[in-house]
Amino acid sequence: MPTQPRLIVATRNPHKSFEIRALLGADWEVLDVNDFAELPVIEEAGNTFLENARLKAEGISRLVAGWVLADDSGLEVDALGGAPGVWSSSFGGEEGNHALNNARLVTAIRGQAERSARFRCTMVLAKAGIAQADFCGTVEGTLTDSPQGEGGFGYDPLFIPEGYHLTFAQLGQDIKNRLSHRARALTQVIAWLAEQPQN
Ligand code: IMP
Repeated sequence: MPTQPRLIVATRNPHKSFEIRALLGADWEVLDVNDFAELPVIEEAGNTFLENARLKAEGISRLVAGWVLADDSGLEVDALGGAPGVWSSSFGGEEGNHALNNARLVTAIRGQAERSARFRCTMVLAKAGIAQADFCGTVEGTLTDSPQGEGGFGYDPLFIPEGYHLTFAQLGQDIKNRLSHRARALTQVIAWLAEQPQN
C-alpha cells in the first residue's frame, strides 16, 4: 500500500488544522506544530497575510522534512477600513481570545449601516526553508449585530456568507468547508501539489 504524503501545517491553532485535515481528506496525513513538541512558535512579525504566512511556512520548514503549509487569515470589515485584517487574532487585546475579539467587533460596528466584510486566507507552501508558492481565498459576507451559533471558531458567529441567512457558526462545518476562504485557498494548494512531480 503506498504511504500517504505528509503535510505539516505551521499553526498551533487546532481549528485551522482541523479544517485543513477535513478538506484534504484521507489522501494526506496532516500534522501541525502541536505534534512536534520541539518546534518553536514563529512570530508573526509581518504587516500582510502573505508576509506572515511566508514567515511561518519558511520558519517551520527549516526544521522539519517535507511540505509545510502556513495559513494566515483574518476578517476584513469594510466599515472599519479593512480592520481587523491581519491583526484579527488579537483585535480584542489578547492574542487568540475569540470572545474578546467578537465583543470588540460587535461594539465597533454597532449602528453602522455598512455591514459588508470578508474572510481572507493566504496560504504559503514551503519546503526546506524556501517558500514555493502562495495562494489566496476569500469569502464575502455580512456581519450580524451579535454572535449567533456554536460551530466553527473565531468570528464565525458574526459572519453570514453571501447567499445565506445564517452565520458560519450556525451553518456548520460541512457548509463552511464548501464556501470558506480556507477551502478556496486550499483547493488551489491541492491542484498545485498534484502537478508536482513527487509529493
Ligand atoms: P492568524 O493565526 O494570525 O492567521 O489569525 C487568524 C485569526 O483570524 C483567527 O484567530 C480568527 O480571529 C480569524 N479567523 C481566521 N480564519 C477564520 C475563520 O475561518 N473563522 C473565523 N475566524 C477566522
